Amino acid sequence: MTTYDYDLFVIGAGSGGVRAARLTALGGKRVAIAEEFRVGGTCVIRGCVPKKFMVMASDFSHQFHTAEGYGWTIDAAFDWPKFLQVKDVEIARLSGIYVANLGKAGVDLVHGRAVLKDAHTVEVTHRDGGESQTITAEKILIATGGRPWMPTDLAGVEHAITSEEAFHLPELPKRILIAGGGYIAVEFAGIFAGLGVETTLIYRGPNILRGFDDDVRAHLAGEIEKRGIKVILGCQHASIEKTATGLVNKLENGMEIETDVVMFATGRVPHVKDLGLETAGVALTDKGAIQVDTLSRTTAENIWAIGDVTDRMNLTPVAIREAVAFHETVYRNNPQHFDYEGVATAVFSQPPVGTVGLSENEARHACPGAVDVYVSRFRPMKYAFTGSDERMLMKLVVDGESQKVVGVHIVGPEAPEMIQLAAIAVKAGLTKAQWDATCAVHPTMAEELVTLKDKQQPGNMSAG
Ligand code: FAD
Repeated sequence: MTTYDYDLFVIGAGSGGVRAARLTALGGKRVAIAEEFRVGGTCVIRGCVPKKFMVMASDFSHQFHTAEGYGWTIDAAFDWPKFLQVKDVEIARLSGIYVANLGKAGVDLVHGRAVLKDAHTVEVTHRDGGESQTITAEKILIATGGRPWMPTDLAGVEHAITSEEAFHLPELPKRILIAGGGYIAVEFAGIFAGLGVETTLIYRGPNILRGFDDDVRAHLAGEIEKRGIKVILGCQHASIEKTATGLVNKLENGMEIETDVVMFATGRVPHVKDLGLETAGVALTDKGAIQVDTLSRTTAENIWAIGDVTDRMNLTPVAIREAVAFHETVYRNNPQHFDYEGVATAVFSQPPVGTVGLSENEARHACPGAVDVYVSRFRPMKYAFTGSDERMLMKLVVDGESQKVVGVHIVGPEAPEMIQLAAIAVKAGLTKAQWDATCAVHPTMAEELVTLKDKQQPGNMSAG
């Protein structure tokens, strides 16, 4: 019988890899994990967590404005270097907790870049340039995540940054242009605008947040413009030129916009480059993600893959659930696959978005009969004294036949917090009547969700 150094070797100590490694080691297996950058992965080091801190830092300006409507006098100033310093201390603390938890579970942490040499062997090149190490394992789990994509053939693209550098800008720019229409682009546009940076968002598509409900897309585009973001749609870069005074963004429509920073948030790709996948018999999909079956097994019999590298649903809680399913399947004789339906998500734009289930368009394709739509737009109570014309959007999408609420879409303050709870009801398949039977909490914004009475009439439906 072949003996291996480890029962399981995990490549990548991010959301998915860390969870799988810990569970498996706690179950008594010999486990090692390799990390080429910092333990915690994208979410902790350069994704969800630092992003949310930046959103919270930025949102104060709006809260100060609201407070003035209530009689406060506020003379506020923002200190970017101080913020970066406290943020980085907290990120280091969180990363340290991940390292400690791996240690407590008995996982061996190998600092360095792991490359597959064959289906059971990895070579880890240490970060500090020391000798590389060859390690064998019975099973291997690839959890290498994703990395930002930029149009490399664009003239001047070398002057642009991605979200990774946006977390560490040496100084806060006066002007920024962000290219992209996905959630990362919209979130960073909100962050910089809230911090007082003159912010332009350009996106080549007809509206931001492709794939979201059309009412959400239209509503949010309007709301972020109210917060001072200049949104240019249906347009992309022709080139970027560095001048003595900044970066000149030449757009395909002939516009020229000079900024101090240009950020591309034009998508992410699976992190598979030079990983040695071919030598181990691990195939990729047409889109360059690791090909897996429903149980996360790759085309190599003893190798599994989870998280963003498989490009299924690129979210931290999903990577964690895929890790749990992997562990149950492989080490507990309990085959499991994650259920991708009814996963709630948030966009931490300003105002934020919370969404779960089907968009109206998706429901019209998925539901056998009619689709009932309930929409409410209103001014949140807290803006009563600010003179603000900001509006909240709440939308319920209901399967006309079963009367189940199949989609909930919210744009406005606290939407991410609300959607987490609404997701329980959607996942449980509750009907509109059951939502309505739930007594309101007054006065709140969320009460609107259980008091929506007027079905949208067919002539008044959202486009598409
Ligand atoms: P990752 O967390 O990316 O971890 C992969 C790890 O593998 C990395 O640490 C990497 O350094 C390491 N690695 C790669 N190759 C090797 C190698 N060869 N050897 C050793 N180590 C290697 N999700 C949410 O749910 N909510 C959010 O609000 C949210 N915001 C985000 C904001 C931004 C700006 C970004 C970029 C992402 C955000 N995400 C968010 C997505 C979330 O971060 C990812 O879905 C999640 O981190 C995926 O986990 P993972 O385990 O697949 O990979």
